[in-house]
Amino acid sequence: MTETTFASFGFASTIMHALNAAGFTKPTPIQAGAIPAGLAGRDVLGIAQTGTGKTAAFALPILQQMAANKLHNRRFSTRALILAPTRELAVQIEQEFKKFGAGLGLHTVLIVGGVGRMGQVNRMSRGADIVVGTPGRICDLMNTRNLIIDQCQFFVLDEADRMLDLGFMPDIRKVVAALPARRQSALFSATMPAEISKLAEGLLHDPVRVSIAATSSTPVRIAQHVHFIDAGAKRQLLIDLLKDPSFTRAIVFTRTKRGADKVALQLNGAKIVAAPMHGNLGQNARQRALEAFKSGEVRVLVATDLAARGIDVTGVSHVVNYELPNEPESYVHRIGRTARNGAEGVAVAFCDATELPYLNQIEKLTGVKMHVASGTRPAHAQPAKKPQRHPDLVVRKVKPRRPQYAGGKARAA
Ligand code: AMP
Repeated sequence: MTETTFASFGFASTIMHALNAAGFTKPTPIQAGAIPAGLAGRDVLGIAQTGTGKTAAFALPILQQMAANKLHNRRFSTRALILAPTRELAVQIEQEFKKFGAGLGLHTVLIVGGVGRMGQVNRMSRGADIVVGTPGRICDLMNTRNLIIDQCQFFVLDEADRMLDLGFMPDIRKVVAALPARRQSALFSATMPAEISKLAEGLLHDPVRVSIAATSSTPVRIAQHVHFIDAGAKRQLLIDLLKDPSFTRAIVFTRTKRGADKVALQLNGAKIVAAPMHGNLGQNARQRALEAFKSGEVRVLVATDLAARGIDVTGVSHVVNYELPNEPESYVHRIGRTARNGAEGVAVAFCDATELPYLNQIEKLTGVKMHVASGTRPAHAQPAKKPQRHPDLVVRKVKPRRPQYAGGKARAA
């Protein structure tokens, strides 16, 4: 069997050049499956999570088709729209489009909340080739006709299951209703709950389905340790661990935004340079924290699950689960922040008595029994509690909704 190569896709030379410069020598499985389908104009249903190379899997076919067909777009319109659940992920997707589209002369606009909208409106005024954004601000600009999508040829919904978790479905339905019937669409999701399958059915026309290993697999390169510990002793244990110089770049996960702030403050009090990263911070503050973490200025990022989605920083030596997540898939996602690009990594879990059911669920999902670094594993496993909604999500759900989308001619998907 011959191996798929990027050259075999027939990309424009500028795209091939950018792929070489980025060190992309061989397509990942999701790319090998989704790129030919995308280039052939087919819709794609991708079951894959961050880290599989899914961004390039949808970005490259769009760029290639745009390279071959350089249309000028009308004011405030876009030819491609990519929706992502978090600002960080949107930023990364936009960067990937810019990286591989360099030299194609395309106009890319990032439309996310947490920063002023005027700059975004100005960038839209001459029309865009590619818009990448989060649903709230996208609908906001659609409402004021500063973003018009009725001529959009390419639509991508990324991390659809997270969109559902975050309560973005009403916004997504509004966006989909305003898209033209004639378009190429792709939907990517790590999991396929019933509501996402239904959404995919309405959105995609005869899609090519590409599925990459489930969320349950943890890379073998990650050593997984657990400390059985009282909740009140976690703070000191974290400080003690972080004194070890092998923790060169660490992400500490808490379950709540308030918890992230508190732990970051406690670390700063112990003279450990740490920054919080969560959804209550403005976009500029989040981006600053991420940049400082990337540059090494900040050694420890204290993050919630939602803010951590899509963080792609190389050289994260350790992930500390200060509190275990109540959804076992979140654990897999968290520890995947380390051991990126073939490196090795260490995942540390702090488990107090109330968290034992979560630990059991995680070990059941991953099939890996964590190494006990301190404390004693209780002899009898307790029955797992039913997973609860993430506390930060519950808060979000009671927020009043934005007014209905009023602009544009709504069309059925
Ligand atoms: P993604 O799942 O799109 O977030 O990609 C995860 C990481 O893998 C990113 O840092 C990408 O730049 C990188 N990546 C994606 N595709 C390839 C490839 N074919 N070769 C090397 N690195 C890749």
